[in-house]
Amino acid sequence: MRNKQTTPTRHDLWFLPLGGTGEIGMNMNLYGHAGEWLMVDCGIGFDDKNGRNRYIADARFIQQQIEHNAHCLQAIVITHAHEDHIGAIVELWPTLRAPIFATRFAIEVIVNKLSNSPWAAHVPLHIINVHQRYELGQFSVTWLPLPHSIPEACALLIETDVGNVLHTGDWKKDDNPVLGAGFDAASFAALTSLPVDAMIADSTNATKLGHSRSESSVYTGLLKTIKAQKGRVVVTCFSSNIARFVTLVKIAHKLNKHCAVFGRSLENMVSIAKRLGYWPDNLTLVDPKHVGYLPKEEVMVIATGSQAELRSATQKLALGYHPWLFLEPEDTVIYSAIKIPPNTQTIDQQISHFETLGVKVIHAEDAEKEGVVLHASGHPNQQDLIDFYSLIKPDMLIPTHGEAEHLKAHQLVAEQAGIRTVLAGENGDLFKIKPFAKKLDQWAPIGKIQIG
Ligand SMILES: [Zn+2]
Ligand SMILES: [Zn+2]
Repeated sequence: MRNKQTTPTRHDLWFLPLGGTGEIGMNMNLYGHAGEWLMVDCGIGFDDKNGRNRYIADARFIQQQIEHNAHCLQAIVITHAHEDHIGAIVELWPTLRAPIFATRFAIEVIVNKLSNSPWAAHVPLHIINVHQRYELGQFSVTWLPLPHSIPEACALLIETDVGNVLHTGDWKKDDNPVLGAGFDAASFAALTSLPVDAMIADSTNATKLGHSRSESSVYTGLLKTIKAQKGRVVVTCFSSNIARFVTLVKIAHKLNKHCAVFGRSLENMVSIAKRLGYWPDNLTLVDPKHVGYLPKEEVMVIATGSQAELRSATQKLALGYHPWLFLEPEDTVIYSAIKIPPNTQTIDQQISHFETLGVKVIHAEDAEKEGVVLHASGHPNQQDLIDFYSLIKPDMLIPTHGEAEHLKAHQLVAEQAGIRTVLAGENGDLFKIKPFAKKLDQWAPIGKIQIG
């Protein structure tokens, strides 16, 4: 590798994904300009065999850069509080040692995760205000809110002397996301005047036609489905989707059911949501230890474990050893989530455990075939992507946050939307945005490290 330029000059603006491009999960990206680096997200990945082994990206490249110049990593900036964007901070911070900037909600989740680590008190954490510009070395960063399946998700506008990029993070075009503001077209339309040289963008649903459905659209299907059940109802969903919990607790109240939450990650999220004012005061919850004593038809539980995670509340209920509740025939378990591919088999096993207990199971993917909506994705479909690109009119697009098939589909969509340069690649490829568009394949060392 002799003579290879590994540090960007003041004429350069580079994008280097170390995780999350060519795979789902483990998002970790670097932007390089004028001898400095900016890290965007620092997430965790899950093994593709059974979804239960956790991985972080190999940070060797940035580690070597830091050894060469201790101050070259200016900051770690976070788009939102999902595990695949923040889950590696605890393990990697002692190597990176850079200040972390994020919204209040994401900082609260990070503080919670750091609380058991020996360096918790040493990590400089900064709560940002959205729409305000932060000067981080040679980079100016502005957090721009977008709807997603967790509060306070943001795109990042990253400005430098030579060019500007919009890093979308995870997002969806939702006019009524239940919590937080809807998609704010005007704030993004204003970016055309910069202009935006490149967009680095979410590919999760790039294979899906049309528009992604609104989070508010799940209310009717969930209400109808829950109302039709005779016994206890357990609903399992992703533990960070506060909007979904709010919808579910509203439904419980409407149907005169007592609602409790099962599972530590869910309890943590609800307590953060309450602290930050995302939880409507009138939506009361009952003590989860009491639900076993209440009349069956009045019980509704929201539980962690829609992906059949080991030790999750839903898994304990399926195996019949949850300390607070034993499900019986006439009780129903509703999955208000999709089956993420690595977990399909374990979810199906979990469902068969419920069926052995005589418990009725309704999965969102099956309900969908009957025209009943029990889940909404947090990512944009093809038409949403096209609409967003017509609004911002970037010169270049780099698809990220997806496996090869998603990136390929996203490339075609972007070309269809009239974007002149679309560079699709994978982790370790160097994407030069300035002084000219170019991709250097397998430029930086990459890999993944299991953390148990
Ligand atoms: Zn993500
Ligand atoms: Zn996300």
